[in-house]
Amino acid sequence: MTKKRGASRSTLRVILQAVLLVLPFAAMVAPSAVVAQKAAAPKATGKFSGKAAYELTKQFLAAAPHRWIGSPGHAKAEEFIKSHFTAEAAKGNFETDSFMASTPAGLLSMKNLIVKYPGKKDGIIVIASHYETNYPLRDIDFVGANDGAATSALLIELGNYLRAHPPEGYSVWLVFDDGEEAIQSWSARDSLYGTRHLAAKWSQDGTLQKVKAFLVTDMLADRDLDILDETQSTPWLRDLLRKAAANTNHTAYVGQSSGAEEDDHLPFLSRGVPSLDIIDVNYGPHTASSPDGWHHTAEDTLDKISARSLQISGDLMVEMIRLINQHG
Ligand SMILES: [Zn+2]
Repeated sequence: MTKKRGASRSTLRVILQAVLLVLPFAAMVAPSAVVAQKAAAPKATGKFSGKAAYELTKQFLAAAPHRWIGSPGHAKAEEFIKSHFTAEAAKGNFETDSFMASTPAGLLSMKNLIVKYPGKKDGIIVIASHYETNYPLRDIDFVGANDGAATSALLIELGNYLRAHPPEGYSVWLVFDDGEEAIQSWSARDSLYGTRHLAAKWSQDGTLQKVKAFLVTDMLADRDLDILDETQSTPWLRDLLRKAAANTNHTAYVGQSSGAEEDDHLPFLSRGVPSLDIIDVNYGPHTASSPDGWHHTAEDTLDKISARSLQISGDLMVEMIRLINQHG
C-alpha cells in the first residue's frame, strides 16, 4: 500500500498509538496460530476458505519472498499466480498486460495479470490487489505478508470460488496489478504504475465503460482486522461494504474508523469508474521508532496475519459481488 492523504487521521492515530502500545505484549503471550495451520490442505468445498487463502499466502511467500520490480522474485511471483489459473488460461481468460513504466530508477518492465470469469449480464466487477514488494525496501528483508502477498492469495482463492461458482450476473475480473508502490518516494507520478496504465488502456479500448465497480483489496489479512471506511471511494460502494459487513456478521471489522488513502482505486475514480479501496491501514503497534506500525517494515511477516481475517475479507468480497449485482 498506499499513502494517507492529509492529516485528518492524526488525532485518531495518537489515540491508536496509546492503545496499541500494549499490544506487542499481548502478541508475545498469544500461542502461535501456525501450529493450528499445520493440518492437511483444506478440502475444496466450493466456499471461500480463509484457511486456503492463508496457505496460499504461505506458499506465495516461500516461492517469492522478495518481489521488487526487476528482481528474480518478481518473475517468480508472476509464475506463482499464473500457475493457479491454468484452467482460465486454457479458455483464453488469462491476460498478461506488459508495459514499460518511466520511473525515478529509469524504464522498468511491469506486468498486470488479469483473470476473467465471464458472467451473464453485460458489465464487469473488477477486484484488484498489487503483488509486488516495495522497491525502496529491496535492501531489507521485506516480504509484505500483509502488504501484497495476502491479498494476492485472497484473489487466488476468490478465483477458486469463482471457478466453482461461475458468475450468474456481471463478469468478475481479478487483477493482480504491478507497481502500486513508489519506486523512490510517493507522488502522483511515482506510484500506482499498474493501475494508471490499466485505466488508460481500458479507457482507450472501451473496457472502462463496462466496469460497474473497481474494488481494491489491500492489507486485509491483519490478525487485528480493522477495515477503513475510505472517504474518497464512491459513496454507494462504501454503503454496500457496510451492508456486506452486516449481512456476513462482520460489522465489528468494518468502518470503525475513516480516512482518505491514496491507493489503486484513484486512477479509476478519476476516470469516473465507481471505485472502492478496501484496506486496513492500522497494522501493528505504532511506536516512536515505527510510527506506521508494521507497515513497510521487516515485521510485515506471516505471523502477523491470520486465516480468520482472510475468511472475513473473503466473505466480504463474495457478498460485495452479490450486492453489486443487486445494485444494478
Ligand atoms: Zn506497501
